[in-house]
Amino acid sequence: MWDRLLVDCNIATFEGGNLGVVENGAIGIQDGKIVRVGKRTELAGYRAQTVDALGGAWVTPGLIDCHTHLVFGGTRADEHAMRRAGATYEEIAKAGGGIASTVAKTKAASDDELLAQSRRRLHALMRGGCTTVEVKTGYGLDPKAELRLLKIAKQLGENEAVRIVPTLLALHALPADQRDRRAHYVGEIIDKLIPAAAKAGAAAVDAYCDTIGFTPDEVERLFKAAAQHGLRVKLHAEQLSNQHGAALAAQYRALSADHLEHLDETGAKAMASAGTVAVLLPGAYYALQEKQKPPVELLRKHKVRIAVATDCNPGTSPLLSPTLAMNMPCTLFGLTPEEAIAGMTINAARALGMEKDIGTIAPGKAADLAVWNIEGLAELGYWIGLPGPERRIYAGNDA
Ligand SMILES: [Zn+2]
Repeated sequence: MWDRLLVDCNIATFEGGNLGVVENGAIGIQDGKIVRVGKRTELAGYRAQTVDALGGAWVTPGLIDCHTHLVFGGTRADEHAMRRAGATYEEIAKAGGGIASTVAKTKAASDDELLAQSRRRLHALMRGGCTTVEVKTGYGLDPKAELRLLKIAKQLGENEAVRIVPTLLALHALPADQRDRRAHYVGEIIDKLIPAAAKAGAAAVDAYCDTIGFTPDEVERLFKAAAQHGLRVKLHAEQLSNQHGAALAAQYRALSADHLEHLDETGAKAMASAGTVAVLLPGAYYALQEKQKPPVELLRKHKVRIAVATDCNPGTSPLLSPTLAMNMPCTLFGLTPEEAIAGMTINAARALGMEKDIGTIAPGKAADLAVWNIEGLAELGYWIGLPGPERRIYAGNDA
């Protein structure tokens, strides 16, 4: 006897990476995992303690937000107003605003305050259908402060019906007081922070490679250190300019390269051969009112897997809605709804290296599901501001 049987639903399985629809389907659940998926008639002989009839609703894998910066103090609503008055992101960063102001507010907040503020954002993503959320550090900048944020990122998942994947954003921005000691700063991060973060349970290491961030050489040194400590890598690459960061990331078999507005064909080919996922972040593109779109046709041509994420952060993407993160790349970048949904399920799982456990509806996977009261899947790319699924099921339980 199974724990649970969901019936009278249409299922978007994404098994094997393709959409895969089972109409009038059923899903058997036991011990938090999916044990059987098929037509209702195929599962007719099975018994379960609970049988839920879903009234013809659509069931997708629980959404996975594979790129967020949830842990930060305060907001940057004031800078949003400055940008409306004409200042660019780069000008704000060079004037000591931007990331620096969030670093100061994060430092000033107590652990409990940071947890409470971050939890509100996490809850918004959960209401939108997320069952897994990646959370980056990055607003500490020095090793001690970064380890504090890593601990808080992990604590965020305690007593919550959601998987948290903590990523160390090791090289995010050069602190103002380190401008004359750049090499020393990078050395400290590599020599002190990476070994400590590996011990503290970071799932991966990330960096920001751009003209206002870190150079490919600095990133490469970081990646080598991460590999020595058994940590997979990811990279913010080609957002504002082409630094050939995606090719570098692929060289180190990165889980993902993210943003990619300025990606070229060499970079796309390198990503394809390394299996590095392209994570598109339409919230940042929208908030910065960028003109250069990520090269979706190139990604398709070279069969680079595409994920989408909120990039929820206080400066460039204050986006709290995973459903809007699926709509935006359809409208802004030309993704199909199917690509957008795959981008927040199976391909987002791949971007976290978790595709064996989550991201599809198949036997053996976690029973993390979203139940949508919609007539067809295309609605998930269509609505602007769909609040979230009718039901969210985490590890087999309504959550
Ligand atoms: Zn980011």
